[in-house]
Amino acid sequence: MSQTATIPRPDPDVTIHCGACGGENIRKDAYAEWNAELQQWELSAIFDHTVCDDCGSENSAIEKVIEQ
Ligand SMILES: [Zn+2]
Repeated sequence: MSQTATIPRPDPDVTIHCGACGGENIRKDAYAEWNAELQQWELSAIFDHTVCDDCGSENSAIEKVIEQ
């Protein structure tokens, strides 16, 4: 797998919140692969699983539209 994982940019812009505590410290599972050309790690896959860094709640992430 050599293609960089990308998630389509949401329209409108959103923030990701924990559904349990409302915090924004959400982490998403992903794989990174070493790119020898760029000499840096780059994401190769992003998975659905999320966990909240604040309360530990799993898979409760919700999107909120950023009001302009
Ligand atoms: Zn939380």
